[in-house]
Amino acid sequence: MSKGILYDATLCIGCKMCEQACAEKHGLPYDENIAKEQKQSEHKYTVVLNRDDKFMRRLCMNCQDPTCASVCPVGAFRKTTLGPVVYESSRCIGCRYCMMACPFSVPKYEWDKTWPLVRKCDMCTERLQSGLPTACAEICPTGATKFGERDDLIAEAKDRLAKGQGQYVNHIYGLEEVGGTSVLLLSSVPFENFGYKCDLSTEALPFLTYRVLSHIPDLVAIGAVGLGGIWWLCNRKEEVAAAEGRPAPSKA
Ligand code: SF4
Ligand code: SF4
Ligand code: SF4
Repeated sequence: MSKGILYDATLCIGCKMCEQACAEKHGLPYDENIAKEQKQSEHKYTVVLNRDDKFMRRLCMNCQDPTCASVCPVGAFRKTTLGPVVYESSRCIGCRYCMMACPFSVPKYEWDKTWPLVRKCDMCTERLQSGLPTACAEICPTGATKFGERDDLIAEAKDRLAKGQGQYVNHIYGLEEVGGTSVLLLSSVPFENFGYKCDLSTEALPFLTYRVLSHIPDLVAIGAVGLGGIWWLCNRKEEVAAAEGRPAPSKA
């Protein structure tokens, strides 16, 4: 069974303890100024956004079928059976394809380091391997960030939506987006307000990419047949013109 995180923005009080716990777990700096930063970065794997005192977390969605992993030419990203999408820094060649491919703009690069690496939330994979919840879920004082089996969290999210009597936007973000993600979100405010894309495919993007690529030979063949047809028509016009004693039509 794959693990997941359910973040329910209606329970969030914006205390940012999840941000701090994440930083501590990963040996990252955290102070008042970093707490004020309203974006994910190479030193801030998760951020609690505040829009008119409505809160929303952003972090790596740890996709079920991650695009970052599918585009990485050296296999530095990998989806694990436990749920986290992990990064093996020793394999990374710094091409940053993962950053371009991620539909949630998550991976960040250590631009100011001599030997930069890509950084993102790894769902506290080491803690999960030891049977512990993610640091952000463990510290959350209100239960807004909850850790568990992804299937159980989906059932709980559906239950909350059903009993919420219009309290929520009727959408479990991450249930279907890009084939599903390990992080699931509930909110009373449209997800777009916090920069989440709501027009993403429900199919895994690596699968779509594969499908497009698998059609390229067909397109080449169709193109070749089309060009051959144009070539035949041009020559046929010339032959007919010659037979009728007329000047050949311009090929343009
Ligand atoms: S959100 Fe982006 S970085 Fe995270 S697993 Fe999905 S594709 Fe990869
Ligand atoms: S799951 Fe772990 S790495 Fe990801 S945001 Fe939470 S504390 Fe940070
Ligand atoms: S620790 Fe929990 S309540 Fe506090 S900001 Fe994070 S998700 Fe919200």
